[in-house]
Amino acid sequence: MNEHDSEIIAGLLEADGYKLAENLEDAQIIITNTCCVRESAENHIWGFLGSLKRLKTANPNIVLAVCGCMAQQDNMAEKIRAKAKHMDIIIGTFQQHRLPEYIAEVIGGNTPIIDVMGANEDLPNTLPVARQGKNKAQINIIYGCNNYCSYCIVPYVRGPERSRPPEAIIAEVEDLAEAGYKEIMLLGQNVNSYGKDLPGVMDFAGLLVCLNQIKGIERIRYMTSHPRDFDRKLVDVIKDRPKICPHFHLPIQSGSDKILTLMNRGYDTAFYYDLLQYIKTEMPHASITTDLIVGFPGETEKDFAEGLNFIEKCRFDVAYTFLYSKRSGTPAATMENQVEMAERKLRLQRLMDIQNPISLQINKNLIGKNLKVLVEGVSKTSSDTYTGRTDTNKVVIFNGREDLVGSIVDVQITQAKTWHLIGKLL
Ligand code: SF4
Repeated sequence: MNEHDSEIIAGLLEADGYKLAENLEDAQIIITNTCCVRESAENHIWGFLGSLKRLKTANPNIVLAVCGCMAQQDNMAEKIRAKAKHMDIIIGTFQQHRLPEYIAEVIGGNTPIIDVMGANEDLPNTLPVARQGKNKAQINIIYGCNNYCSYCIVPYVRGPERSRPPEAIIAEVEDLAEAGYKEIMLLGQNVNSYGKDLPGVMDFAGLLVCLNQIKGIERIRYMTSHPRDFDRKLVDVIKDRPKICPHFHLPIQSGSDKILTLMNRGYDTAFYYDLLQYIKTEMPHASITTDLIVGFPGETEKDFAEGLNFIEKCRFDVAYTFLYSKRSGTPAATMENQVEMAERKLRLQRLMDIQNPISLQINKNLIGKNLKVLVEGVSKTSSDTYTGRTDTNKVVIFNGREDLVGSIVDVQITQAKTWHLIGKLL
């Protein structure tokens, strides 16, 4: 979502006549779009903001702005002012559409501008977007989150759930199809909540059904799903519509019921496993991935071991694993029995030691299969090979060609790695 916000910021400025600079030194405006979901991301930002002082000193006319969810946190604007006085604009998540007007004000001599008002003002339904890719496009469908998982800062900095009207989303996807985009990614902190604030209009399943009918779009993805809100009806809708990718990213966060309750996730492992089994039975070819946090406050060795067993039983294609990161202002930050960082790191390693062989084994089962791959471009590791993704979201490296970028091709899988597949173009 943060990446897509950057595309919107670029779109807003392009609509105002600005052009993207080749590098930081040439830029007359530098906008730092921040993320505060984990502490490490925030630490990077402080270092980056500090490094901009050199450019401001060399050229006092450049405009420096900081925006995004880190800036939206309580008292953060004051903190940024104190630590990085060279910033001209500090705005939160709810004011990014105002950036062009604030930049004009700073150029006119009015600096600094600070606007971190809360969620009382909605973003316009449609904003210009300068998209980074030509084949895959991200689209916001719902902003904010009402869930208040006890470790998470998002509801405080992104506000309550607000769905975009379906007609705005459908029009955007139709334009994308016309422009040649093959794949769309629907974005929301909890996409399954789509439409709950538009009673009688449309829910998430209804939106998928509508978007599935748009000609030209070949793949529909969405991110992120809350397992609690993912019901069998939604699985059935996806199962019957081949454009909706058979990839389920269902962040479980912990395999221990005690920790899930402390996290305020709203489901237990039995509920989750039942959903998983339904998906695996109805769509055996689908991939299932998850997110996991290790070292949550109160997680004992017994809780962790119990969780490991559960994760092993689930057999995920991929688990994205994270050390618990304390975010001040969240209930978990003040919980008792915080787990030492060294222990968190050990547990993360133990989790990966269990999960990685499972990911590898699942990928090995694909050797010899012919899969459809959307070609993304030259691979990062070698200019002789190309990279693309299957509808199950597996990365495939293969002997592609430049003229195939953007099209869906058949690739036979010849080798499997933990994180990707290797294949040959058919
Ligand atoms: S559902 Fe996701 S975004 Fe919302 S509070 Fe929980 S972890 Fe954060």
